[in-house]
Parts: sequence; C-alpha cells; structure tokens
Amino acid sequence: MKKSLFLLPELGYQLTDLSPMMSQRTLSYHYGKHFQSYVDNLNHLIEGTEFEGLTLEDLVRKAPEGPVANNAGQVLNHQLFFQQFRPEKNAKVPTGELLFLIDQSFGYFDNMREQIDKAAKSLFGSGWVWLAMNDEGKMQVLSLPNADNPLRHGLKPILTIDLWEHAYYLDYQNRRAEYLENFWLLVNWQVISKRIV
Ligand code: MN
Repeated sequence: MKKSLFLLPELGYQLTDLSPMMSQRTLSYHYGKHFQSYVDNLNHLIEGTEFEGLTLEDLVRKAPEGPVANNAGQVLNHQLFFQQFRPEKNAKVPTGELLFLIDQSFGYFDNMREQIDKAAKSLFGSGWVWLAMNDEGKMQVLSLPNADNPLRHGLKPILTIDLWEHAYYLDYQNRRAEYLENFWLLVNWQVISKRIV
C-alpha cells in the first residue's frame, strides 16, 4: 500500500496566462513534462523505502546526496518556482513585512534584485538562484547547483529562479538576461509574503 504519493501541484493560473514572458509551449514542457518526471521519479524511488511517508521538505532536508535528494529537490524547487507567478502582467513590488525584511537585509529592493540578477547571470551550469532567509529574518542571495535547495543549508527558501536551460531555452535560447528581466514581471509578491512567516 502506498503511504505517500506526490502529485503535480495546482498552479492557480492557466498555461497561457504567463505569455509572452513564459509561453504556453515552455510551460507545457517545463511544468507538464519536466516537473511531472521529477514527481514520478520521486514516487518511484521512495516507494517501499525508509523515505516513504516523509514530507517533501523533510525529504529535501534529510535525504543523503543521490537520486532521492535530487528528485525531491527538483519537486520542491519547481513547486516553489511555479507557484510564485501570477497571471497579471503589470509589475508590482513587495510591501509590508516582506519589504521591511528586504530593506533590513539589502538596504532596498533594487539592491536585492541586482544581487539576484548578478548571481543568475553568472551561475555556471544547471542550477537555481534563491532568495533565502535565516531564523532571524536575515535574507541572502544563494546560488545553488543542480537540485540543491536552501533547506539543505538551514535556510528558508523565499523566491527562486530556475536556471536550467529547459526553463527558458524555448522562449529565449541563449538570452538569459531577457528571461531574467521578464521573470520579475511575473512574480506574485503576495505568495512570496506568505513564505516569510
Ligand atoms: Mn526546471
């Protein structure tokens, strides 16, 4: 009997809603195929093992380096990535407690964005750039390879940019800077605010 089965999470928007910044074609492959594969692989890998029944976050924290950690990492990373977007196309900015913590940690919002962009432009190979937070509410930018996640470093993941080529190649080919510019237009700051609690 299966004790746990991870599922592709609901998005709260349609695959056409993020165009043209993220096209339906990109989402149908990235969400519909790549993400689905990580979910399927993880379910297959943990079935009947000591990992079965753990939450996704605990799998990411506790699994030793290897296939379970890689697939659990990619499932959580993609969940955080896809759930942080919103259909509306006009850019908004963080407010309230989130803005306060950003200002405390980076001076001001543009400084944070600049640090994230710089890390994202210079990340070599496949990986993710993160806005992460420690227990004291101090935020930092992290550049992590492959399927790694801030949880494995004792930090809380707040915002993330997928820099595997499958995330942007269909829409932007080698134009990573353009992908980043458009990424900021998609961020749902209300979702991000809920992650600092
Ligand atoms: Mn991806």
